[in-house]
Amino acid sequence: MENIYGYTMDMLEDYFTSIGEKKFKASQVYDWLYKKRVNSFDEMTNIGKDIREKLKQDFTMDKIKILTKQKGIDVSKYLFGLFDNNKIEAVLMYHDYGTSLCVSSQVGCNMSCAFCESGRLKKVRNLEAYEIVEQVLLIEEAEGVRISHIVMMGIGEPFDNYDNVIRFINIVNNDKGIAIGSRHITVSTCGIVPKIKEFSKLDKQVNLAISLHASNDELRRKLMPIDKAYPLELLMDTIKEYLRNDGRRVTFEYIMLKDVNDKEENAKELAKLIKGMNAYVNLIPYNETSHIEFKKSSKDTILKFYDILKKNGINVTIRREFGSTVSAACGQLRSNYEEGL
Ligand code: SAH
Repeated sequence: MENIYGYTMDMLEDYFTSIGEKKFKASQVYDWLYKKRVNSFDEMTNIGKDIREKLKQDFTMDKIKILTKQKGIDVSKYLFGLFDNNKIEAVLMYHDYGTSLCVSSQVGCNMSCAFCESGRLKKVRNLEAYEIVEQVLLIEEAEGVRISHIVMMGIGEPFDNYDNVIRFINIVNNDKGIAIGSRHITVSTCGIVPKIKEFSKLDKQVNLAISLHASNDELRRKLMPIDKAYPLELLMDTIKEYLRNDGRRVTFEYIMLKDVNDKEENAKELAKLIKGMNAYVNLIPYNETSHIEFKKSSKDTILKFYDILKKNGINVTIRREFGSTVSAACGQLRSNYEEGL
């Protein structure tokens, strides 16, 4: 049995063709699943009874479970239990321009970034596409809102689960389904070069974010082991290639870690590294966690860093801090839950 929420429109059309039915049934099913949001095949009243029975044999509509929820003023954080009892998180942020949901793509993560809580649990498995789609559906239902933006910045490395992530994007982006525009979807990667190349060929204008966090290889290697496999020069060349397509731009995420990567010389080096690219830098005040010794840079240091980038002609923003009151930083809800906090 397959979970129907993991099926793209194309897959569902092929399914109907394979059982001798018309393709357009796939659109009707999408309408029930994603516009009307029914919870059983029996409610799909414009689909013949025989076909409904067949669907029940071939698919489940089961959803993962919400285990806990924490609500702040402008942020809600959810912990989900999967069918095999693994746990993942998603965070909904309320912005003035809409709502953005940060989804997880794997159970645990193998990238071993030194500052990151999620990676303290090594990868157990990839999420299936339906497990990512259901994070969106369940949170829309629980919060009573429509999600306008999705960022793949929860637990996991999306490009280490490439096929399911692309399938997820196809499902939520489909007009007949949840219909979140591709420009409202952002995939964030620590820099897996071969997958960035593959992503470049995708004919959707999905945003790309790169977790950079350092201005040279020596520093980056200490923070992010992936830099040993794909050093900065190679990464930057790959991103420049990605940017050759019209209308694309890239975001560099840069966590500000006190006395580690926040010096003036780092800012200058960073400016040099990305000068001339259609890119902007998002400076992220580090979210301190109880397990990891890194500290966040002071406001002053962040502003100074910002000024240097600005003076060097780089587009730069400082990320607004969401969720520090509800342990929303990357993987903390799961670890607190397991420790009974
Ligand atoms: N694996 C992907 C996506 C998940 S992490 C990636 O590396 O991009 C999403 C972002 O949050 C990354 O930029 C990550 O480096 C950052 N991050 C991890 N821990 C953080 C923390 N404690 N405070 C602030 N940002 C953090």
